Amino acid sequence: MKELKILYLYPDILELYGDFGNIQVLKYRLEKRGINVEITPYSIGDNPPNFNDYDLVFAGGGADQEQGILAKDLIKYKDNIKEAVNNGVFFLLICGAYQLFGKYYKDVEGNIIPGLDIFPYYTEAINDRKKRCIGNIVIDVNLDGKETKVIGFGNHGGQTYDVNTPFGKVLYGNGNKFRDEMEGFFLKNVIATYLHGPLLSKNPELTDFIIKHCLDRKYNENIILEPLDDVFENLCRKQLLDRFLSKEKKP
Ligand code: GLN
Repeated sequence: MKELKILYLYPDILELYGDFGNIQVLKYRLEKRGINVEITPYSIGDNPPNFNDYDLVFAGGGADQEQGILAKDLIKYKDNIKEAVNNGVFFLLICGAYQLFGKYYKDVEGNIIPGLDIFPYYTEAINDRKKRCIGNIVIDVNLDGKETKVIGFGNHGGQTYDVNTPFGKVLYGNGNKFRDEMEGFFLKNVIATYLHGPLLSKNPELTDFIIKHCLDRKYNENIILEPLDDVFENLCRKQLLDRFLSKEKKP
């Protein structure tokens, strides 16, 4: 039986926006296909993980204060994480986690939280708690040559700069910054995005893209995933896309 091993970073700290739902969606879509999934949580004080031992590393979003706390722990694994990224382990990073894999995150009070500096971007929050990118988002993403609309919800004060390989083009809502045309950060085995929702619950094609990428790498095969019955997911997507894309581009 095929298996996927997921490392779930800081589930007790990066849990403010319901990103745990992404783990549930991955688990559902893997087990529906008879693929075993092993989910290993890691947080401060746990035995240090070897990031290379996993097929997928996931981390969600959180508040500035929590980011400041865990950044001191995360930085310990910088070299191991960099090695795992270079070895092709898949990283799915949402919002706060996205920010911490860059050069730094300057929070709303002006504190500089050092990032892992694995990716070239940096993030600075506007020093006004009321000025946050909050709202629904639709982006156009190229997944292995297939244009796919990805739907989510953003809630961040941080404005991210110097992204040279964005995840997608904004069709509705904010991007890496207020009214930015581009959203997120994308490499072959890295998706970093501001889209909560949780992200994967609204985007079955994206979920399957990630699953296939991880399985193909692990088993060195071109795996064809058995289609699942996504009638309800697609009905929900149609409602959301009709609602958002019929409007003026920006909220
Ligand atoms: N605290 C960060 C910000 O406000 C990240 C927020 C999040 O993870 N949604 O930008």
